[in-house]
Amino acid sequence: MPEGPEVECTKLSLQPIIGKFIKKIQFTSLSQKYPKYQNKQVDFDFFSGKRLERIERKGKFLIWVFNFGKIILNHLGMSGKWLFVEEKQELPSHIKIIIHFEDFEKLAVFDDVRNFGQFRIFESYDQVLQYNPIKKIGVDGLALPFPMEDFLINLNKSNYKNREIGDILLDQNLVAGLGNIYRSESLFRAGIKPTRLVKSLNIKTKRNLGYAISETLQQALECQGSTFNIQPFETPLGLGSAQNWHKVYDKENQLCQICEAEIRAIKRNGRRIFFCPNCQK
Ligand SMILES: [Zn+2]
Repeated sequence: MPEGPEVECTKLSLQPIIGKFIKKIQFTSLSQKYPKYQNKQVDFDFFSGKRLERIERKGKFLIWVFNFGKIILNHLGMSGKWLFVEEKQELPSHIKIIIHFEDFEKLAVFDDVRNFGQFRIFESYDQVLQYNPIKKIGVDGLALPFPMEDFLINLNKSNYKNREIGDILLDQNLVAGLGNIYRSESLFRAGIKPTRLVKSLNIKTKRNLGYAISETLQQALECQGSTFNIQPFETPLGLGSAQNWHKVYDKENQLCQICEAEIRAIKRNGRRIFFCPNCQK
């Protein structure tokens, strides 16, 4: 699943279309079927002839800003990815959105095998900022320097104190950009067992976790994100390679590279957290 680094890589890889004029944003027959695509084709017709000014990232959202006020908010969901394809090229089989440009020879296409991607039109930038998932978003895990003090303020909120640290790290209101892969990797890097209650962590351990999150996400960003055979993530720049340095994610029963104990996995909300029972206390 695309997490903060993958979404940031996607944003950077879409730079060639910034400043281009839209000929047409086209829904495919597939996109009509899924309610996550909040607007209809007719709503996207307003974008024809308009210029794409910039794309911003907030957490795992991409905010597409145009020269006439309207905004498209895009979430990659579980498997969404943007690709540039030649007009005559055969399209991948799960394309939901096709963008034709006036002055860019390729098509930008949104491929989404599992259909959790989102597109939502807002009338203004301010309206996007008032949209709850954006408004409530926590510190940006990819920000440099890492906003440690704000991270600690969020982590010390009373609603987290009796919960497991592994459980709350997916809460985008705490820190934005972590998903299933990088929460396991961040906890391993910080040496914290995912089942530890937040109230049991001292200030030094909390700071270590903040640094571990930042380092993990930065490393993933440098590697163009993580990709897996089962659900390849890619951008117009190609496949990522961050999976090559994962220490625990998806490695249940394999030996820890540090201490050779067996990596274990626990399930929380239907998703697995991987950890080394020896290195993580
Ligand atoms: Zn270990």
